[in-house]
Amino acid sequence: MNMAAFSAVCERDLRPYMVRSPDSLCHQVFGMQPSIATLPLLLLLLFFSLPAPSLAWGVHGHLIVCQIAQGRLSVAAAAAVRGLLPSYAGGNLSSLCSWADDVKFRYPWSAPLHYIDTPDRLCNYTYDRDCRDEDGIKGRCVAGAITNYTSQLLTYDGTSPSTQYNLTQALLFLSHFMGDIHQPLHVGFTSDKGGNTIDVHWYTRKTVLHHVWDDNIIETAEDDYYGEGVAEFVDALTQNITGEWSQRVPGWEQCSKNQTTCPDTYATESITAACDWAYKDVTEDSVLEDAYFASRLPVVNLRLAQGGVRLAATLNRIFS
Ligand SMILES: [Zn+2]
Repeated sequence: MNMAAFSAVCERDLRPYMVRSPDSLCHQVFGMQPSIATLPLLLLLLFFSLPAPSLAWGVHGHLIVCQIAQGRLSVAAAAAVRGLLPSYAGGNLSSLCSWADDVKFRYPWSAPLHYIDTPDRLCNYTYDRDCRDEDGIKGRCVAGAITNYTSQLLTYDGTSPSTQYNLTQALLFLSHFMGDIHQPLHVGFTSDKGGNTIDVHWYTRKTVLHHVWDDNIIETAEDDYYGEGVAEFVDALTQNITGEWSQRVPGWEQCSKNQTTCPDTYATESITAACDWAYKDVTEDSVLEDAYFASRLPVVNLRLAQGGVRLAATLNRIFS
C-alpha cells in the first residue's frame, strides 16, 4: 500500500457530504498487520493523522464553547450526548470538540465546512450567495453544515442506533461547527481567506490575522488573567452568562419560526464583527498589541459565550 492508495481508499468512500459511517474503511487500513517493510510507511501515515495545527478557533476556543454548552444541557440532551459520545470520551463532549479539525486530512470533503467566504468588503452574508464551496456546490459552508448535522441528529430516537447516519460524528461536527461559525473570521472575505493571508505581528511574534482570532487573543487572556488556564476562563464566561449577560441570553438562544438552529443569524453576526473589529485598522504587517488586545477581547468573550449557549440550546431542542 502506498500513500496514494491510502488516500484513494479513504477519499473515494468518504467524499459524500451526507455520510453514514465513513470511519470503517480507514479503520480497515489502519487495522492491517504491518510487515517490517510497511512499518516506516505506517508510522508516516500515523504522523500525518495526528492533529494538525488547527485552522479554527484553536483547541482552547472549541474546548471553551463545548464546556459552556455541556453545563447547560437539559437532562434529556445530556443523556443523549453521553450515549452518542465514544466511551473513551468519558462523557466529556469538550474532549472531542476539535475532532473535526483533526480529521480534515482523512476527510478532505469536510474542509470547506468550517467557514464561509463572503465578497470582499461587503460586510454582509446571505446563504444563497455565499454558502457554497470553491466548486460552487451549494450548502457546503459552515452554515449549511450546521443545518445538515442538526437534521441528521433529529433522526435520533433514543432507542435503536440510527441506520441512516453516524450520529456520533454528526454530534462532533455540529459541536465543532457551532464554535467555528462564532469565530468572526470564519465568515470573512474571500480574497484573504478570512484573514489567513494577512501577515501580522502578535506583539513580537509573526503570525496571520486569522490565527490571532483563533488562538492568540485567547492564549494572551489566559496568560494575563486566568492563572489556572482554560478552566478559569470557562468559569469567568459562565459567571457572565448567568450574571451580567443574563438578560441577553434568551435572545441568543432563540431562533425565529421555531427553527431548531439558526446559523444564518450567527454567520451574519460574525461577518459584522469581522468588519467592525477583526479587520478594522489592520493592514499587512500590522503590529497588534495591547490596544488591539484590550478592545477585541470583549468580542472574543462574547462570541465564545454565544457559541456555547447556542450549542446547548440547539442540542436541547434536538433532544427534547
Ligand atoms: Zn473548524
